Amino acid sequence: MAYDDNNVFAKILRGDIPAKKVYEDDFALAFHDIGAKAPVHVLVIPKGKYVSIADFGATASEKEIAGFYRAVSKVANDLGLVKEGFRSIANTGINGGQEVPHFHVHLLGGKKIGPMVSD
Ligand code: 5GP
Repeated sequence: MAYDDNNVFAKILRGDIPAKKVYEDDFALAFHDIGAKAPVHVLVIPKGKYVSIADFGATASEKEIAGFYRAVSKVANDLGLVKEGFRSIANTGINGGQEVPHFHVHLLGGKKIGPMVSD
């Protein structure tokens, strides 16, 4: 699947639309999900143009991959999610229910998150 430059997270990265940012570095941007499903619901996205976790792992450089996952860990730690626990989700494609075609990791916490999968 080709990357769509008009997806909403590309617009956030370009500053075309606002987001409540919690962290940013050379490799990643983290911001609050507009439709929070938990007391803490943050999205972490790579700065590069990757459609999904599958695309990212297959085609990003080792520097980008390391930088991105370091950022995911930093955000989880900085938001205080690690002690009580949290859930990280990367939805992919139609069966995964992915709405925005720019790779992102959801971090959900601040309460006990429900069943891992529900119908
Ligand atoms: P997906 O279903 O692709 O894994 O998750 C996309 C997420 O992006 C959803 O949880 C949705 O609430 C969030 N989202 C969609 N549009 C926006 C937006 O414009 N700003 C922010 N902050 N989040 C968005």
